[in-house]
Amino acid sequence: VRYYLDRIAQLKHLNAFLEVYEEEALEKARELDTRIKKGEKLGALAGVVVGIKDVICYKGHNVSAASRILEGFTSLFSATAVERLLQADAIIIGNLNCDEFAMGSTNENSAFGPTLNALDNSRVPGGSSGGSAVAVQADLCQLSLGSDTGGSVRQPADFCGIVGLKPTYGRISRYGLIAYASSFDQIGIFGKDIADVAAVLQVIAGPDEFDSTASQKEVPDYQAHLEDNKSFKFAYLRDAQYHDGLDAEMKDGYIDFFESLQSLGHTVSGKSFEYLDHVVPAYYVLTTAEASSNLSRFDGVKYGHRTAEKNLDLTEFYKKSRSEGFGKEVKRRILLGTFVLSAGYYDAYYTKAQQVRRLVTDKLNDILEEYDAILMPTVPSTAFKLGEKTDDPIAMYLADIYTVLANLAGVPAISVPLYRHSNGMPYGVQIITKKFSEANLLQIAHQVM
Ligand code: GLN
Repeated sequence: VRYYLDRIAQLKHLNAFLEVYEEEALEKARELDTRIKKGEKLGALAGVVVGIKDVICYKGHNVSAASRILEGFTSLFSATAVERLLQADAIIIGNLNCDEFAMGSTNENSAFGPTLNALDNSRVPGGSSGGSAVAVQADLCQLSLGSDTGGSVRQPADFCGIVGLKPTYGRISRYGLIAYASSFDQIGIFGKDIADVAAVLQVIAGPDEFDSTASQKEVPDYQAHLEDNKSFKFAYLRDAQYHDGLDAEMKDGYIDFFESLQSLGHTVSGKSFEYLDHVVPAYYVLTTAEASSNLSRFDGVKYGHRTAEKNLDLTEFYKKSRSEGFGKEVKRRILLGTFVLSAGYYDAYYTKAQQVRRLVTDKLNDILEEYDAILMPTVPSTAFKLGEKTDDPIAMYLADIYTVLANLAGVPAISVPLYRHSNGMPYGVQIITKKFSEANLLQIAHQVM
């Protein structure tokens, strides 16, 4: 714990942590020490130092979703994932910076300033779980939790050169995770290697009486077969690999990677996926619709910030509190979501996007029936420069082209580091498997990493 506290203090300029639970983490470490001396049996994650994204509730601690609107709000209960970490004797060292309400791809939408990529401080770490990624990248903790609605774990993992897992929708309880788009959101895990990520998933996955969308399916042993070597049948999506938006050098990198897999005895075949250009529009219609509804609870009355202005009628009071509390991107999305759900446009946008979601899911599942996994880029480029995309939200959204697919379909996906670009930044490969096949996914990732 002292080692990580020192590093956090030394690397404060990265702005990864919003709060560090210094005393509490030291106390927990001392308590574990005493229990070891007494010969007690400790939990599966005993002494493992973990950070949590600031959209995950931890009883008695501030949670802000990196937004002014939740300023001063303290969690009244812990998320199930946090509860399970604590029961397994992990040490939670602090909460981590992110884009406001997990909306963004660079961490620049945080009300508390951007987090910097530790490899190159002029670049973003990715987002929205930027702080969680940098905390692991810069060795400020061993593992961290993030949330992934459209890539927010895999994309920053890719930009930071670490591992990021988004499990199947429903594999980890969302109880205590501040909702962005409820039918997409999933807690995810950052780590330096697959074994670490598997160990955390083992602890936090599984049914939960507080979340009816958490699956009742039994949690298999994710660690037992990690080391097994097998030959796999991989597919790549031609429409993804030959997409105009993909960086040319990375394009070649993936071809080399596929060839190296083949020389190891795996098969790699190209499949067409003609819906690829529709996934980003469908994702942004559906998630903003869900967000506009989820975020209506932040009204200035129930949580956090309320306007100081007096003598307002109720509507004016709501308006004022929300206008002051929410940042620009969150407002943009609430407006967009409200629009696509409005009476005259509902069928043209919302219903259409639901139809696209169904088509995309069916097509993806067909491919996953035939192959062990789909391989594709995680992001079309390496980490952006700070400020590079802030004036062009559409360009920012389009960079989510490879990650939103897994959330639309609810399937598990992982990003593992692959190569380094000539610009010095890392990039990874994304692996996607069938729903609830995390054991296979982790085994494949372990083998290709
Ligand atoms: N970049 C995507 C967005 O802005 C993903 C966010 C997320 O997964 N939370 O919506």
